[in-house]
Amino acid sequence: MHPQRPLRVAIVGYGTAGQAAAVLLGRDGHAVEVFERAPAPGPVGAGFLLQPSGLQVLWRMGLLPEVTAHGARVGRLYGETPCGRAVMDMRYAGLDARLTGIGLQRGALFHVLDAARNGRARLRAGIAIDAIDPHDDRWLIDAHGGRHGPFDLVVVADGAGSRLRGYPGAPRIDRVYPWGALWCLLPAGDWPWMDELRQRYVAARRMIGMLPVGTRPGDATPRVSFFWSLPVGSFDAWQAAPLQAWHDDVAAIWPEAAALLAGAATQHAQLARASYRDATLRRWHRGRVVLIGDAAHAMSPQLGQGVNMALLDAEALRDALRLHAPDAALPHYQRERRKHVAIYQFWSRWLTPIFQSEHDLLATARDLAFLPMGRLPGGRGHMLRVLSGTQRGVFGRHALDPGFVQALASGFAAAPAMPGPVPEPG
Ligand SMILES: Cc1cc2nc3c(=O)[nH]c(=O)nc-3n(C[C@H](O)[C@H](O)[C@H](O)COP(=O)(O)OP(=O)(O)OC[C@H]3O[C@@H](n4cnc5c(N)ncnc54)[C@H](O)[C@@H]3O)c2cc1C
Repeated sequence: MHPQRPLRVAIVGYGTAGQAAAVLLGRDGHAVEVFERAPAPGPVGAGFLLQPSGLQVLWRMGLLPEVTAHGARVGRLYGETPCGRAVMDMRYAGLDARLTGIGLQRGALFHVLDAARNGRARLRAGIAIDAIDPHDDRWLIDAHGGRHGPFDLVVVADGAGSRLRGYPGAPRIDRVYPWGALWCLLPAGDWPWMDELRQRYVAARRMIGMLPVGTRPGDATPRVSFFWSLPVGSFDAWQAAPLQAWHDDVAAIWPEAAALLAGAATQHAQLARASYRDATLRRWHRGRVVLIGDAAHAMSPQLGQGVNMALLDAEALRDALRLHAPDAALPHYQRERRKHVAIYQFWSRWLTPIFQSEHDLLATARDLAFLPMGRLPGGRGHMLRVLSGTQRGVFGRHALDPGFVQALASGFAAAPAMPGPVPEPG
């Protein structure tokens, strides 16, 4: 391994992708400056499911113990109709008895990554980057026309609604999904399924998700992330209607979920709106500019992979920069990551209308076929690998280190030594 000379690196966006890149590139001695448009950077939304693929990155970063100290082990994904007919039932143990997902509050991961940055990368909050200078890609231009630079490398991590996505070339696909979600954190109380992601569906028109997400620094209350599917065009009508009518809707589908919601969501404003995009690019880089995370490959959260992909992107970029100068590292990074991401974009594009749409026939087919498909020998393995983030291309595998699998199984105690060199900033 040949650590390259320290670079001046700009990162645009301080979500998971930007945070992870700031930690990893800062640790390798690059001079990193992060531009985040939010004046007070912090988590947006409720919680998410971390898959073994993403957890392995955190393990290699030495952060798994912090994550597991707060997160909730999630061993099973179970979906059913309101009358209790199973539609989906997947357990990580079907791949390996030691594997699990971890439900985590967004605030917990934000805090863990922010603490790991440890002052190595400079965070410039309240600066929205609008463009890269078209004549000199070493310079960024902010929303007030201010110029920032020069940089040797610009890492674009500004999320699904990226303003800079078109820089490497016109995207192949870039559109908003017609359906989104409302979501919030609820105190777990006596929620009975504390190690399962549970979902309930009424055709594809209604969907509730309940994901245990543990605690976060400064708040020891275990929580569940609540998800309610809704067409994006209905957000305003939902907001205008009495909240009690919606609570009644939830109760008709899932009384236990409604009971948790009743005490915690008493105003519309307590639920955050989420919309998602489908974005596929021909190129993830141009010149000294490279895209990571949702900026490079936004997808619907149906497969619960976006945070994991963001972590993997940041690590792959760091690794490519250890091996090559930036002009060779960026194509190398794209090749590495695109192979992994493509199958998830493919499946999330197909699965989303099956779970979020007005296509009742599709939903009926789902209710009849999903469970049997998951019991077929080939289908089951493929579905579990897609779930765990370890499917790579159609036939390939994203390898999990035996040390990581062991650490996950043994209460996450064994963090590895930091891999590779961590030179002093030059
Ligand atoms: C309802 C829902 C549920 C989800 N569930 C899961 C799940 O269970 N598991 C999972 O892995 N993923 C899940 N995801 C996906 C996941 O949230 C995203 O894939 C992930 O957050 C992407 O990280 P990112 O850093 O690329 O982008 P973001 O987290 O969106 O971060 C982008 C950052 O850039 C900043 N920014 C934007 N524009 C600018 C600008 N012009 N200048 C400076 N800063 C800017 C933003 O303020 C933000 O801080 C879910 C998503 C949704 C909506």
